[in-house]
Amino acid sequence: MAEVKLEHVYKVYPGGVKAVNDFTMDIRDKEFIVFVGPSGCGKSTTLRMIAGLEDISAGKLFIGGEQVNDAEPKDRDVAMVFQNYALYPHMSVYANMAFGLKLRKFSKEEIDRRVREAAEILGITEYLERKPKALSGGQRQRVALGRAIVREPKVFLLDEPLSNLDAKLRTQMRAEIAKLHEKLKTTFIYVTHDQVEAMTMGTRIVVMKDGCIQQIDAPNNLYNYPCNKFVAGFIGTPQMSFIEGRLVRDGGNVKVSFDNTAVEMSVPEEIFMKAEDRYFDGRKVVFGIRPEYMSIDPEAFPFCADCKVVHVEDLGVESYVYASFGSDEDGAGSASADVIIRAPSGCGVTQGDKIRISVNMAAISVFDAETEQSVLPRVPRRLNAKAVIGGGKMQLFGTDVDLPAAFACGDGEYTLSIPVDAISFGGDFPAKLTSSEEIGGSTLYVLDAGGKRVFVYGETAEFGGAIGVDFARCTLCGKEGEIVPAVPEYNAVRCRLSRKKNDEGNRVLLAGGGETVCPEELFRAVAAALGREKFKRDFELRFSPKAFTVGGMPLTAQGVRDYCGRVFADYSMADGTRLTLAAEGVAAFAPDFAQAEVYLCEPSVRIL
Ligand code: ADP
Repeated sequence: MAEVKLEHVYKVYPGGVKAVNDFTMDIRDKEFIVFVGPSGCGKSTTLRMIAGLEDISAGKLFIGGEQVNDAEPKDRDVAMVFQNYALYPHMSVYANMAFGLKLRKFSKEEIDRRVREAAEILGITEYLERKPKALSGGQRQRVALGRAIVREPKVFLLDEPLSNLDAKLRTQMRAEIAKLHEKLKTTFIYVTHDQVEAMTMGTRIVVMKDGCIQQIDAPNNLYNYPCNKFVAGFIGTPQMSFIEGRLVRDGGNVKVSFDNTAVEMSVPEEIFMKAEDRYFDGRKVVFGIRPEYMSIDPEAFPFCADCKVVHVEDLGVESYVYASFGSDEDGAGSASADVIIRAPSGCGVTQGDKIRISVNMAAISVFDAETEQSVLPRVPRRLNAKAVIGGGKMQLFGTDVDLPAAFACGDGEYTLSIPVDAISFGGDFPAKLTSSEEIGGSTLYVLDAGGKRVFVYGETAEFGGAIGVDFARCTLCGKEGEIVPAVPEYNAVRCRLSRKKNDEGNRVLLAGGGETVCPEELFRAVAAALGREKFKRDFELRFSPKAFTVGGMPLTAQGVRDYCGRVFADYSMADGTRLTLAAEGVAAFAPDFAQAEVYLCEPSVRIL
């Protein structure tokens, strides 16, 4: 079995370049994984860390269930194929392929069997006696693949293996490598900057940017549900067109307007049902439209816009019309946005034409103008619901429930901001199932609770006609903003190792103006990561409100939040650091180190 598992893997080069940032992924046996992204995004570094050619700065790497952070490349059972195939020019193809096995002292018979089998698979048997200089680029790359195949590795690592080949050969080799994967039935990890290569070869694709994973998904999911504007623009040719605009609720519809254009559309609210309420206040958003979601036939889709044609590319099989979106007859909208529209070949449209196009608004993408995250995630993140508080009760989703004491802040109307994963089946609020959708092996349920649309995701229990809400995870807001914040997912406390030991000879941790015993494992991990600066630099401990032990560093109580019997209390430490624990009356505490996460500060790197 050849699963490859990366857990919070980082690469920080000397000088502080963070080439890979918190890379976490499970690669299953026999998967074909592609790392794709622009040059410098950290793809090769990640691959080289898997190969053992580059040290891992922090995090864990497992191959076939074994942690291999410190294993030599030759002991990892991986084989790597590079862009420059680096064949020995004075050796025949046969000798090039046999070389690594000879070094490993395989018997002559075994070497011969493996070389001939690999040559057969790759269709290079007739060239076995030739020297590399008598081969074409494609044939040389096959020999390089052969050299990897004869090692019968658990995992193939391929670093831009086709970049040196011309376009036609690349397309052919792409198909051959995909076939090779079928035949060998092992795990492939393939690095490329070419999104077409990624889309055609990968069973799953990892899109990276600036050292960070943007999205891991199957090709068609990346295309249809990009999680942010970067992924949306990177995947697909010609590119998705981006137009700034706004959304405003308008009865049962949503008014969509495109900035700098005269285009306005009234679109059924259903299309935007996964968007959070805040996006309907007229704030700037970015719309993303793929070429095929527009048509030069004004009847093709229900929503229309005027365009002026700037340029037409006819590719024979289809054409692409480059147009300024929203340019109307009078020449208004001169600052309009540029779009690319897919049209039939020979469509008759030419430069300078003013045309009316139609737009498939049901397929449109919408991104936050600031964060560039999708406003229409496949699984909605949170929803806002009206909460009416009065007489010791709270009315939510049209049903009265006992008011959690934590929310006792005066009678009136409030907004409860609820993370979707804080809603589950079974509870106080009657609901009706309206639809469901399979996403990523789980189900997204759409329900109606007292006239409000509610989502439940990943629930495994039977739906019994009612839903429940974990109020501790909700934020109560008034007109002026946040009134009762949600219980934080984790507390963050800055710490430093102390030079001294305590009377029992234990290591000591300085935190929040106090000190506590530092477990040996934590001391060793921080010392290894910080080296000589281990007593000089801060790191951050993150631990859930439930993960603590009593005794240690002193706390001052700041308040208690009672969510119908589930109590959380807010505290401050000696230096003013605030934290929340799932118990009241705690006078002194220490984080439960076994469950805590440890991050170095600047650059932030998780080490435990
Ligand atoms: P990609 O394969 O996506 O093009 P790399 O993994 O090669 O990107 O590089 C990621 C980042 O790390 C880049 O900013 C690059 O400049 C930097 N980098 C790569 N190798 C080194 C090195 N040996 N020393 C310092 N920085 C490096």
